[in-house]
Amino acid sequence: MMMIEDCIVLCGPELDPWFCKKIEIERDKIAKIDKVRPCSRIDDGAIVVMPGLWNAHTHMGDACAPDGAVGLTLEQGFFRPDGYKYRMLAEKSDEQLLDSFRDTLGYMARTGTVGHIDFREQGPRGSRLLRTVSNEIGLQSVILGQFNDLPFDDSALCANRASLPPAYVEELRLLLQESDGFSESTMNDLTDPAWREVKKITDAAGKFRAIHCLENENYRKTSVKLTGRGDLVRAIELYHPHLIIHVTAANDQEIQLLASHNVTCVLNPRANAALGLPIPPVAKLLDAGVNLLLGTDNGLLNSPNMFAELDYTYKIAKCQYGDSVKLNPAKILKMATSNMRHVFGCQFKGFVNEGGQADMIVVDFTKPHLRRSQNIVASVVGRVTPDDIVSTYRNGQLLYQNCHGTKLNIANPARTSSLQHAI
Ligand SMILES: [Zn+2]
Repeated sequence: MMMIEDCIVLCGPELDPWFCKKIEIERDKIAKIDKVRPCSRIDDGAIVVMPGLWNAHTHMGDACAPDGAVGLTLEQGFFRPDGYKYRMLAEKSDEQLLDSFRDTLGYMARTGTVGHIDFREQGPRGSRLLRTVSNEIGLQSVILGQFNDLPFDDSALCANRASLPPAYVEELRLLLQESDGFSESTMNDLTDPAWREVKKITDAAGKFRAIHCLENENYRKTSVKLTGRGDLVRAIELYHPHLIIHVTAANDQEIQLLASHNVTCVLNPRANAALGLPIPPVAKLLDAGVNLLLGTDNGLLNSPNMFAELDYTYKIAKCQYGDSVKLNPAKILKMATSNMRHVFGCQFKGFVNEGGQADMIVVDFTKPHLRRSQNIVASVVGRVTPDDIVSTYRNGQLLYQNCHGTKLNIANPARTSSLQHAI
């Protein structure tokens, strides 16, 4: 059993801060939270326990070439078949990929992330490699695989009649054995009959579906040219994705479409900005009631540090509202925590509660820049840096511990020696 005493816990899906006499962790579960009183601010430091963060959009494949796409357009850097990313991936050995996955998942744990949704290239092999490292590190990887090569050429896409060739149906079945679901790069990569088939096969296997939509205006334009309809409309009608990624260029009508179909969207404002694309309409999506998650997207563009993503998103959303009043910072923090429950239910709830999984991080609010916080949730979103993280836990297992942290009142009979060494 592990116990943290006299701390502040961001409790439940609303992330309400409570001063607690103690929080007890037994094996993989939070056994007890001894709440004393609500506590939204502090005057002289505290230890804060909060849900571990979820990064809902990564491409672990890019981890082997950080900043490799600087100076390239979206299409030059990331599009099939000849974009820099795909040429670079083709050159890497399994060992090189495994090494970069290890480094990146380790970095994510030390920056407070307990789980991520990865859009894994390279067919069944790509998903299998990531699963190996994910099991090693202990961070939860939800892996959505894609075909190793695109099934259709330009003329087949223009005709928009062909169904998925048998070899790709077989590849999809193998892929789903290695992964948690499917995601191609864009709706413009497959024909309408193929999307219907992918939906049917993923449904039968009980797997997740995701797709990148409206990362820029060209996604919609190309889709209209190929099929007469925009990519978002086609995604919702043909493919019923659990997650739609980006929606950077979504117009008001498309935002209403997302809201009326209850689709969860994953926003990636820093990656969009790194490509000189528009910023996603965070404020309009929040006002429309769309369930939102946050991700850091390509490692070629962006570090997988969710605290940086939270800070950036909070500030740009305030700009979009045009005032400093309307946006509660908890709404932004939910995008990396408790909004997960609307997609994954009990499996990954994204919040801390009695009886729930011990997926959490411990943050040192005794540090000079945090110890007088008059709004703890706002400080988590806008001021906490990875250096302030004391430890990260997934299913009660220690994924990361800061060896230079302040001495904390943590009792853990089972791990006493390692903790004493660490603090
Ligand atoms: Zn992506």
